[in-house]
Amino acid sequence: MTEDKLPPPFLGPLMPCYNRHDIAFERGEGVQLFDTSGRRYLDFAAGIAVNALGHAHPHLVAALQGQAAKLWHTSNMYHIPAQERLAERLVDHSFADGVFFTNSGVEAMECAIKLARRYHYATGNPGRYEVIAFHGAFHGRSLATIAAAGKEKLVEGFGPMLTGFDQVPFFDLEAARAAITDQTAAILVEPVQGEGGIVPVQPQQLKDLRALCDQHGVLLILDEIQCGMGRTGRLFAHEWAGIEPDIVASAKGIGSGFPLGACLAKAHVACHLGVGTHGSTYGGNPLAMAVGNAVMDVMLAPGFMDDVCDRADYLRAGLVRLKANYGHILRDVRGLGLMLGLEFDRPARPLITQLMQDGLLVAQSGENVIRLLPPLIITRADIDEALATLTRLLDGLLPTEETS
Ligand SMILES: *Cc1c(COP(=O)(O)O)cnc(C)c1O
Repeated sequence: MTEDKLPPPFLGPLMPCYNRHDIAFERGEGVQLFDTSGRRYLDFAAGIAVNALGHAHPHLVAALQGQAAKLWHTSNMYHIPAQERLAERLVDHSFADGVFFTNSGVEAMECAIKLARRYHYATGNPGRYEVIAFHGAFHGRSLATIAAAGKEKLVEGFGPMLTGFDQVPFFDLEAARAAITDQTAAILVEPVQGEGGIVPVQPQQLKDLRALCDQHGVLLILDEIQCGMGRTGRLFAHEWAGIEPDIVASAKGIGSGFPLGACLAKAHVACHLGVGTHGSTYGGNPLAMAVGNAVMDVMLAPGFMDDVCDRADYLRAGLVRLKANYGHILRDVRGLGLMLGLEFDRPARPLITQLMQDGLLVAQSGENVIRLLPPLIITRADIDEALATLTRLLDGLLPTEETS
């Protein structure tokens, strides 16, 4: 805003930073949501990949209600047994040796960045503080994470930017190699770019990135806030590449709707977050831990991830059929597991509104991409219903001028 312009009218009471759809929901059940007039919707957005186990999952509801009647919060001045238990379970089933709990994704990312800087400081390289990220990335809305992503839309008007971040084209390993200096602390990447249009990093590319980091004594930080916690059919997406990162930021599905995040790290890094270096008042409180452990109960059950892979294959096959039939409108189907992107030949927002009016909720990613992020518990019947709704949408669309 320039100074000679009038400020925009403020209608309040909420600050106007969200472009909300004209709808509100009253209750949910599994993959279904019901709006305030009682109309039913199939939820393939899942609160932006958050409701991994759908809505009102009985095991999660029981865990939250049981804990709510006992103890909500004590702070990290005291031991929180459920926090130790959840950390142990995450460690047992991942690359990690240590966990720090947060309330959100961006806090998990902040911890990851601080940890990378602290590691180099503590190991005699205080000059290594820079983090290299990729174009199209999204790592949250804090001053550090907008500086990390560096995207104009995120940083405009919020300067001066925090220093110590650089960006290279996605996914250009040679550019990353060229960007490494004796100030580089870490390379940061989403194994599947979420906000950037649902673009997976290929397994071999992640392997090469791991090798590059090792070569230069640089830490590898993965932002698995959206693609982790079962979304791709593995607890963490990087498992598909068979690599071990140094630090991972997790959130979204980890609480399946309860605000929860976690920063996970290998022992050589985790050991440097000593007493007084970092903290959170709410992070890992008993309410969050009750839900987090309940989520793990479900996700760690034998066969759960195999089922996610089956559902993902079934959904993807249906989408690929749609692309074969409507390729002039539906330009690309991509993603990994139940994190899928549909690229259209036109802006996605009006299409999302149309789908919503036809009972299917989806999310947007970039200008022309619809994101499908259904709960991991969807059934084939849910998928058939979503495919039928998408087919109705595509049937009703005329090719755009340039392609007809
Ligand atoms: C959602 C998201 C974040 C930010 O998480 P918040 O909980 O909104 O702070 C960061 N990185 C990725 C990849 C995300 O999808």
